[in-house]
Amino acid sequence: MILSEQKPFDEILAFLEKDNSVFVLGCNGCAQSSGSGGPRQVEEMSEKLAAAGKKVTGSKVIDFLCEKALVKSGLKRRVDQLKEADAVLVLTCGIGVQCVAAALNKPVYPGCNTVNLGGSRGEWEGTERCYECGQCLLYHTGGICPLTACTKSLVSGACGGANHGKCEISPDRDCGWELIYNRLKERGLLDRLDDLIKPLDHKKIMPRPEMMATPRYGLENPPQAEKPAEEVKAK
Ligand code: SF4
Ligand code: SF4
Repeated sequence: MILSEQKPFDEILAFLEKDNSVFVLGCNGCAQSSGSGGPRQVEEMSEKLAAAGKKVTGSKVIDFLCEKALVKSGLKRRVDQLKEADAVLVLTCGIGVQCVAAALNKPVYPGCNTVNLGGSRGEWEGTERCYECGQCLLYHTGGICPLTACTKSLVSGACGGANHGKCEISPDRDCGWELIYNRLKERGLLDRLDDLIKPLDHKKIMPRPEMMATPRYGLENPPQAEKPAEEVKAK
């Protein structure tokens, strides 16, 4: 389970400022359970966007947007609606948005922030990763997460140390910011690099107090004094 909540509608409209038409995509997995991107929320979002003057070319809810094969097969019959849309708004977690952005050759925008769940979670094991930062930046980065793709989690651009596309810290890894640059270039979105990305609010990366107060969080994160003796000794 990955917890997500919808971004404020004003932020979503700002993403769509230069777009006249949009396709809305939701997820029947965690986003449906979170109440952020299931069938009802997709329908409501489509209505709100239409009321705000955007042409909604179509919408679809797919079982698990964190699995690219399901994204592709689920959208097979929607090719015309997708073609007609300037952008795709995705109501789900950061992993799902990244998977859709990797699967479709279109501007893909996050409609949700992924919230720190403060513990273990089940998800489809793909290449996409999300740190649950609570302030999803994927609009600015072509659908590639700068926190997980860049070894230093830089959110405002490359460090300049990459060598032949590989990260200066981990030469076995592609430079996350080169991937972002190439994705934006490929989609004609290089002007996104001019966006001013606000510094991250690190409070949002922590689990929320109400989450930390749950018995499940307490079980997974016992206070130091309550940890088994061997575990404390080994540290
Ligand atoms: S920017 Fe990255 S870490 Fe933050 S919610 Fe989006 S995918 Fe997750
Ligand atoms: S080389 Fe690229 S991935 Fe590595 S830290 Fe610098 S910007 Fe990030």
